Amino acid sequence: MAGDGTRCIGGAGGEPGEPVHPGPVLSSTFHLGTSTLPEYFYGRAGNPTWTAYEQAVGALDGGEAVAFSSGMAALSTVMRLCARPGTAVVLPSDGYYIGRLVASEELAPMGVEVREYATAGSLPPLAGATLVVVETPSNPGLEVCDIRAIAEAAHAAGARVAVDNTTATPLGQRPLPLGADFVISSDTKAISGHGDVVLGHVSCADPTLAAQVRAARTRGGAIPGPMEVWLAHRGLTTLDLRLERQARNAHALVQALLSHPTASDVRWPGLSTDPSHAIASKQMRRWNGVLRFTLPSITAVDEFLAASRLVVSSTSFGGVQTSADRRARWGDAVPEGTLRLSAGIEDTDDLVADVLGALDTVRT
Ligand SMILES: *Cc1c(COP(=O)(O)O)cnc(C)c1O
Repeated sequence: MAGDGTRCIGGAGGEPGEPVHPGPVLSSTFHLGTSTLPEYFYGRAGNPTWTAYEQAVGALDGGEAVAFSSGMAALSTVMRLCARPGTAVVLPSDGYYIGRLVASEELAPMGVEVREYATAGSLPPLAGATLVVVETPSNPGLEVCDIRAIAEAAHAAGARVAVDNTTATPLGQRPLPLGADFVISSDTKAISGHGDVVLGHVSCADPTLAAQVRAARTRGGAIPGPMEVWLAHRGLTTLDLRLERQARNAHALVQALLSHPTASDVRWPGLSTDPSHAIASKQMRRWNGVLRFTLPSITAVDEFLAASRLVVSSTSFGGVQTSADRRARWGDAVPEGTLRLSAGIEDTDDLVADVLGALDTVRT
């Protein structure tokens, strides 16, 4: 396999006279001609800007990709596709919280049993399940579980496996070769990478399954705007570069945080002493910029964020600017002072100095 930077660019194909960088195709409707239906005919069913992006991101995942209007559109479409009354859907109790809301608010009232499991715990409860959702590293706790082991057990029990790969990115982890049926991604995060797009995708190794996901998108209508897809595709070409700096910054920040008395509970799967490191290094190809740590109180978090010049207080992650999000604000079951920090692409020395300086001002 070529290197990650080369794979993000995707080669030099094209005919003379074609644009090297085609713009977004915004047309909602396409010339039909007279007889056979052309590949593109209506903007809810297909669009050449989607196709270019889906081929690029699918190649990185090792499967066929289907773009969606958001990460939640991708996840909820897969959940609805697999859920059946009288069977169970199994979700991580410590994963992205809206996934659990889809299950409790939409699937449970239709007779689907909703079960939860802890990412860092034992195997999920699988009897009677049609779908197991896996999130590794989990958001926001950055716990890790063994994708291959869960996929083997789930398939033996007749369940499909969807891995939310948002935190890892397709360069950091390839769940499809590890046995996952679906990769789910919020491309709002590191893939688009600049904080200006809401987008998602699903990838499948099995073309029949991918066709089912594509048909569900056309029926359900959770389609992405061509402009958003075009922006995400542009972002994708620099994912390798951004990830490299973000991971380097995260590593340096984690070491600085570990040395500071005000920060505790510092977690990053890339750290050799992290409890998740053994499994993470078995199934992940490279690290990323997302880490977590805990300050003593909400006031301490406020003081830290007010003193920092480089860490912006915002939700979402994977962007070029370092950001931090106090997750208890959103109802995640974490201590009040727990921050998920997403390292950006600032210079490492500047970032470490800024974070240490801001921590020094915390008085509570
Ligand atoms: C952000 C996120 C989602 C939801 O994605 P949107 O693009 O905001 O809909 C799903 N899973 C994880 C792990 C996320 O971080």
